[in-house]
Amino acid sequence: MLRSTWKGEAVAPYLEELIHRVQAHPLIQTFPKTEVQDTSGIIGNFATTLAAGEEKDISVIEHGITIFATGGKEHEPEEYLYGKHPGVLTHLDLDKAILTGDDRVEGAKTAVFIQCVGSRIPERPYCSRTCCSHSLESAMALKEMNPEMNIFILYRDLRSYGFREDLYRKARENGVIFMRYNLEQLPQVELDDSQGLSLTVMDHVLRRPVRISPDLLILASAIIPNENKKLFELFKIPTNDEGFLIEAHMKLRPVEFASEGLFMAGLAHYPKPLDESIAQAKAAVARGMTIISKEGILVGGVVATVDPKKCAVCLTCVRTCPYNAPDISEEGHAVIEPAECRGCGACVAECPGKAISLQHFTDEQIIAKEDALFEVG
Ligand code: SF4
Ligand code: SF4
Ligand code: SF4
Repeated sequence: MLRSTWKGEAVAPYLEELIHRVQAHPLIQTFPKTEVQDTSGIIGNFATTLAAGEEKDISVIEHGITIFATGGKEHEPEEYLYGKHPGVLTHLDLDKAILTGDDRVEGAKTAVFIQCVGSRIPERPYCSRTCCSHSLESAMALKEMNPEMNIFILYRDLRSYGFREDLYRKARENGVIFMRYNLEQLPQVELDDSQGLSLTVMDHVLRRPVRISPDLLILASAIIPNENKKLFELFKIPTNDEGFLIEAHMKLRPVEFASEGLFMAGLAHYPKPLDESIAQAKAAVARGMTIISKEGILVGGVVATVDPKKCAVCLTCVRTCPYNAPDISEEGHAVIEPAECRGCGACVAECPGKAISLQHFTDEQIIAKEDALFEVG
């Protein structure tokens, strides 16, 4: 758990209070250590099978919407002697060490932060967004503990955006030294003769290598999504190459999936600070309330229907539909759930057996309209 937000607000008390409120709420039921085994249904009417605990006790819950807040975690670095030297920590390690008054932190005279560890590299090209601010905040926390501590932040780009700029300014005023490195000349970390850390980085201003002997080396490690492939496949929700969830539209539907009734919030979507996660969670709940506050849901009349006699079960419609509406029924033909169909017509055009028609836009209706047009013309 993070020690504090970039504004210095303690995270643990907030989280403890939130957990208590959730557990004490009469209308909230929690299912810890539970695995989702199956799900079915449509917007406003889902049924999901859960297997709880080691006994795998099965229960089925009915729900109108689903919000995916499956979270993310800190990537465990393999570089810079992490796990091989006690002085090499990640951000979460450092937070824990500060909170517990660890000797490694209290006795440190020199600390070096290395930014973008595991982020913005070919395997993980995204920015983890929180680590620059957290390094600045942690550097200031270390300075408060020991104003004489030498602190270096080795960065590629310092993304202290918005009001976080003040944190950067404050760090500079308090003597934190910033040094830029690039991907071609990564900092080198090795053990010296006394088994201490020795770090060499090419300073782009001095244009010569600088050697530092830090007591603490803090790695601003990437944020990665929690592994939930099976869950996402069950709900047929998409992820990008890095495993983060993909929203229906970045600007128009930022907390929803293309399939109706499914929403997302938090780190599972992309790396973001706590305040953004909370804002996104509130947005997802607000959007979800527009569904579950209704007595019933009306679906549009422009929906695709399958003629079972013509269906060859080729799965073309299943693969084509951007909203995952078609499925293959137990009777052995494609079926399209009207509540999920948006009437885009893509499956109608793709079906090789001409088994699908779009209500209000059948071939007969289109041809009749064309005939009428030319007759009038
Ligand atoms: S927030 Fe900073 S340290 Fe983290 S990935 Fe982005 S640029 Fe790198
Ligand atoms: S594309 Fe047509 S033939 Fe193929 S599964 Fe779908 S409805 Fe059946
Ligand atoms: S009409 Fe569009 S939304 Fe409806 S089932 Fe076909 S492809 Fe999916």
